[in-house]
Amino acid sequence: AALYRIEEWGNGYFHINADGEVEVRLKDRSPLSSISLLKIAKGLQERGMKLPVLLRFSNILDDRIQHINESFAQAIKDVGYQGCYRGVYPIKVNQQQQVVEEITKYGKQYHHGLETGSKAELIAAQAYIDDPEACIICNGYKDEEYIDLALRGISLGINTVLVIEMPGETEIILERARVLKIKPNIGIRMKPSTVASGHWTDSGGDRSVFGLNTTQVITVVDTLKREGMLDCLKMLHYHLGSQIPNIHDIRIGATEATRFYAGLIHEGAPMGLLDIGGGLAIDYDGSRSNSSNSRNYTTKEYCDDIVEEIMSICKETKIPHPTIISESGRALVSYYSVLLFNILDTNIFWDENQKEEEIPEELLPALDNLLYVREMLNEKNTQECLNDLNYYREEIRNKFLYGTVNMRERAVAEHLYWSIIAAIYKMEAKGAYLSPQIKELEHQLSDIFYGNFSLFQSLPDVWAIDQLFPIMPIHLLDKKPDRKAILSDITCDSEGKIDQFIGRSDHNTTLPLHTPPEDDDYILGVFLVGAYQETLGDLHNLLGDTNVVSITYDEEGKFLLHNELEGDTVADVLSYVEYDPKQLEAKIRTKAERAVQDGLITTQQRRKIISAYTAGLRGYTYYETDQED
Ligand code: PLP
Repeated sequence: AALYRIEEWGNGYFHINADGEVEVRLKDRSPLSSISLLKIAKGLQERGMKLPVLLRFSNILDDRIQHINESFAQAIKDVGYQGCYRGVYPIKVNQQQQVVEEITKYGKQYHHGLETGSKAELIAAQAYIDDPEACIICNGYKDEEYIDLALRGISLGINTVLVIEMPGETEIILERARVLKIKPNIGIRMKPSTVASGHWTDSGGDRSVFGLNTTQVITVVDTLKREGMLDCLKMLHYHLGSQIPNIHDIRIGATEATRFYAGLIHEGAPMGLLDIGGGLAIDYDGSRSNSSNSRNYTTKEYCDDIVEEIMSICKETKIPHPTIISESGRALVSYYSVLLFNILDTNIFWDENQKEEEIPEELLPALDNLLYVREMLNEKNTQECLNDLNYYREEIRNKFLYGTVNMRERAVAEHLYWSIIAAIYKMEAKGAYLSPQIKELEHQLSDIFYGNFSLFQSLPDVWAIDQLFPIMPIHLLDKKPDRKAILSDITCDSEGKIDQFIGRSDHNTTLPLHTPPEDDDYILGVFLVGAYQETLGDLHNLLGDTNVVSITYDEEGKFLLHNELEGDTVADVLSYVEYDPKQLEAKIRTKAERAVQDGLITTQQRRKIISAYTAGLRGYTYYETDQED
């Protein structure tokens, strides 16, 4: 467990059982509600569902909704805050219907609402919100149609706030409200001057592309006053960015926003709602630090700090306590999904157990210098030997270019080089401290494990911004891993690899893995992938959506598999890029007919070729082990 830090990032949802398998704990942290991911994977395979598969756990989603709502409620109670908390879930973080349905259903007891950033999201949100106390917060660029939809929602009794993100939106909202004769609830999105640290924090600062600066906020207020509509201004919104690792930035952001909020009340706006946006981070690497893959605070601390900060400024400026709205997405849905994939093959770069072969005598002269380094190597001169080794390898490569070293000599030299590198690494790896250069050796000596997944489809943030997700085998954890590897996906793209992992130190370029069993799948899980990954994923190399299945622990203590969704077929992904599968099939039929006419194949063979082609069209886009004949 320590090797993969599962106790640190698993947050009580994931742990290793006595059989060395990763278990997910679905309800009330009770052992009864634990189920092994391997058993799920095997069960799915028995039912004909192939890997890779994305598992979704709705109980975890419920627990997250409860956690954030109850943490705010507690913080409010602890300090005697007069307002309440209302969460809104930003649909863009995971737009899947199941997610929105679960959040609005389970979240109803907390009046948890939705945040939308486009017309499509608003249209989905309006159908699912069924609680006059839950809000829909409308962000994003708004045309007349978006505004009309939101206004008509208000007349349906849906508690909707239209947020002005751009100066020009004020006029359109007022105009549409006049035409439709519906009084809008207006919010203003301010541009916080606070620029938080982290991967996704361009939403703060003067140059952020969203929100209004102070001058623009005043212009909106003056326009509303002039139009006699200041009584519609109900909310101030800001968003510092997603995954804010440092609580200090969160506090400063809340202070600045509450000052603005107070300023708007003093301008005469009724207000009532302060929307602090998203940003509540997830501890992906379990380090509890302010690094971009982690956070240096708990949810409780986040809620306490926000409530206290707002309350103290309200006291100072003598204004009533607002309802606090937060748009947490990542914190709600990250734990919800796990990607499982099987290892297809390995490329063992250096096996320290392999027997040294004797070097043929005629090759020895070319290897003089390398052999000398090997002879001299001891624990005190590793660095010097490493330097010499690299120098002599370069020399041999140059000699090869000039034709004075032949291919066989070069091959033996390369092998010798790596054997000495491995010996140096072995000596150094015993120490507590590994210098960056020695870590680089570890990386160079590591294996490549080929996984049945697409980085671009299932883990786009790993590729785009070097995000780290916890990755580990879901079984065999009662055995010590004997290999160190990087992972490659099955796209033909050299970028489709993972070579940064969470682990015991800051910078882990290899993942400890087991030699895959010969007679069984070796299955890895990628955890905490519920936020942003599914919909940001793309069709690189035409690898499509994976199979998906939901697992729920029901009231009677049974595990239910439901909402099975077959991933994209080859025909599906081809049609996304404008091919017509029927036409493709027709073309192949014609080609095969010509081959029959030309005597290249028999009619029997034609039949087999056509049926393989059509089975291919119907098939899964990922690697399939049990082919149809
Ligand atoms: N609200 C807005 C306006 C956003 O742009 C985002 C995402 O960046 C969020 C909420 C969700 O943030 P998070 O997933 O960090 O909670």
